[in-house]
Amino acid sequence: MGNNIVIIGAGPSGLSCAYKLSKAGEPSLLIEKESAVGGLCRTLNFDGYLFDMGGHRFFSDSEEINSLWKNIMAGDIFRVRRLSRIYYKKRFYNYPLSFFNVFHNLGPIETLSCVTSYIRSCFLNPGNDKTFEGWITNRFGKRLYEIFFKPYTEKVWSIACRDISADWAKERIRGLSLKIAVQKAVFGINRNAPKTLKEEFLYPRRGPGQFYERLKALAGMQGSSVLCNRAVTAVYHDGEKIVSLKAEDASGGRKEEFGVDYLFSSMPLPSFIRMMRPGAPEDILAAAKRLRFRSILIVNLILNRERVFPDQWIYVHSPEVRLGRIQNYKNWSAAMVPDQSKTSLGLEYFCTEGDSLWRMNDIDMVNLALEELGRMGIAARRYIINGFVVRRANVYPVYSLDYRENVDIIKNYLARFSNLGCMGRAGLFRYDNSDCAILSGIDAACGFLRETGCVDKALAEAR
Ligand SMILES: Cc1cc2nc3c(=O)[nH]c(=O)nc-3n(C[C@H](O)[C@H](O)[C@H](O)COP(=O)(O)OP(=O)(O)OC[C@H]3O[C@@H](n4cnc5c(N)ncnc54)[C@H](O)[C@@H]3O)c2cc1C
Repeated sequence: MGNNIVIIGAGPSGLSCAYKLSKAGEPSLLIEKESAVGGLCRTLNFDGYLFDMGGHRFFSDSEEINSLWKNIMAGDIFRVRRLSRIYYKKRFYNYPLSFFNVFHNLGPIETLSCVTSYIRSCFLNPGNDKTFEGWITNRFGKRLYEIFFKPYTEKVWSIACRDISADWAKERIRGLSLKIAVQKAVFGINRNAPKTLKEEFLYPRRGPGQFYERLKALAGMQGSSVLCNRAVTAVYHDGEKIVSLKAEDASGGRKEEFGVDYLFSSMPLPSFIRMMRPGAPEDILAAAKRLRFRSILIVNLILNRERVFPDQWIYVHSPEVRLGRIQNYKNWSAAMVPDQSKTSLGLEYFCTEGDSLWRMNDIDMVNLALEELGRMGIAARRYIINGFVVRRANVYPVYSLDYRENVDIIKNYLARFSNLGCMGRAGLFRYDNSDCAILSGIDAACGFLRETGCVDKALAEAR
């Protein structure tokens, strides 16, 4: 009791860390640079319409996490049957891939070419299993890789698939292969399906932000507090311990210093290293520089149409548009849209902070989104009622071939600080979903509380 515990970031990992600590009688102060909690799982309210930062399914193999969601949301969370398809060359393909639908859309000649290419890749010309390209080719064949994986993956990462570590494929589509997709098509649902094939998920009635607002309130009841609109800009240490940190508001006009007995951080790992005072050694700074993130820009639109498409989201593989994915929020929960005669969409563009998309002004961005929607035959420009743009940097840790080496260099360096716990997706540089981010927050709290092993099993289940 009485520890000065500070948590950087009030996203899923930061809030669940605070929640766990509060339950053990250790209140904390969360410092959050945005105006509200939830991080990437925040839900934005625009004219009564609710928007995710990209749709957020609640799904986990960990029973502990599923119970946490259900207990905290009580009657406000429900099961959604998933419908998501791939748009490619003016056709829609079911995703998870269904053999008969692929066959129907591609036609017999292309299907035959996919099958022969699969056989060739499996037996004659195995790809390099260490790269994304090789890993997928070995499990789907070259042709299916070129149609269904390469265009979308290169949109997300903007680097060649041969330069992406297979770790990303293993985490995202673990256990999936052409063989499993065919088995599923022939024998139906597979209960042990990899996460990407799960056909149902949980979703809070008013979006994911509703869960994190409740987590904040629960931690608050036990004495924790959140300071929003403050970005941590410097972390001071004595070589063995973190001693204090500096935070500022967006204008930089208001600067405050906070003493620290124990620090948890969910801010991006490379930024944390750059903020250390005295500065980190050159080799550590160099490793941090080699870790890169992709960012996201979302054009949110309200359309004067009752129905646009039946899916919760559509993956846009077609290379002729820059758009990566489209969310349709009323298909997640009717409560996301106050007027059921209207539709709200979130159009996701993957970009790099500072590139031409990132810098495009909001009006041009909305125009680009409307033009692409029209070109794809999804909705005509005349239906637009309103729109706004959201930009978020550092959302996708890039799994380049050397990322793991660089993360290890940094982790080894940070291990000397006995009162520091890093957690979360950007904080650990791990391409994790929110269930793993929550577990990493609880895990970090357990480390402080010395409740070793309190989430080991749950973490192992969730990954
Ligand atoms: C488009 C998209 C779709 C996704 N879909 C799903 C899904 O369907 N299901 C799912 O489970 N997961 C999904 N995820 C992943 C999920 O959003 C993340 O796993 C989760 O948000 C990570 O939580 P976190 O606490 O680690 O990080 P974050 O959510 O990023 O929270 C970190 C917080 O730290 C704050 N911060 C950063 N720097 C500072 C600073 N210097 N000072 C103070 N505060 C700071 C940030 O503002 C942020 O609020 C998706 C992610 C994206 C981008």
